[in-house]
Amino acid sequence: MTVLRRRAKGRTIEQVRLLHPALRRRIRPATLRALRGAQVARVERRGKHQLLHLADGRVLHVHFRMNGDWVYGKRDAPLPRFARATIAFDDGTRLVLVDSRALGTMEVHAAGAELDLGLGPDAADRGWTAAALGAALAIRRGPIKPALLDQKLVAGLGNIYAAESLWRARIGPTRRADSLGDTEVRALRSAIAAVLRRATGSRYTDDDTIALDVYDRAGLPCRRCRTAIERIVQAGRSTYFCPKCQPNSVGA
Ligand SMILES: [Zn+2]
Repeated sequence: MTVLRRRAKGRTIEQVRLLHPALRRRIRPATLRALRGAQVARVERRGKHQLLHLADGRVLHVHFRMNGDWVYGKRDAPLPRFARATIAFDDGTRLVLVDSRALGTMEVHAAGAELDLGLGPDAADRGWTAAALGAALAIRRGPIKPALLDQKLVAGLGNIYAAESLWRARIGPTRRADSLGDTEVRALRSAIAAVLRRATGSRYTDDDTIALDVYDRAGLPCRRCRTAIERIVQAGRSTYFCPKCQPNSVGA
């Protein structure tokens, strides 16, 4: 995402090419051709959605699903493996959308079109406060871990980093979302910020090259208290936690 912002903002599009049939089905050739000459005014991220706001009000909307990344380089460089689309700029540079599973989508929204992505605030947004998180959790009776994966509550927090954040905040994954006290909510908000800072640039692919504190460590000692990490499944997703420093009941 930072790549996209740094490389696309202010540049003028020369050509957008769709290399994968699934992408070609979504945008008509005329709509694609009409992107030529458009300037990228700003780049916005909301969860896995990336919005290139063009100076004339149109929006080039890219949605990474399971994975997806941008590769920046010279326009005439060989295409990387799994290249699905290219955005060439008039200064000879190019961004390539790389997506091994080809599940990402791209659309062009007309100027002034209403964009309802059904998303909550972005987890990486500094303006997202502990108070806002607390208010969102206070009306949820389900467990905290699946709540954090709900993109309507907060966008951009994947399964791995939700588990990491709860470990860091010392909150059990099955705690009822509405049972968290103010101190816990503040701890959770700063834990999410810390985990995402560490994972900058990789959270959309749940990159496993980053040293994790709790995720995928079932049976291994907790990095804080040496208790064996446990694994459970919640809403179909694996969760890892330390049964000692992440109590699952209030005040335990
Ligand atoms: Zn522990």
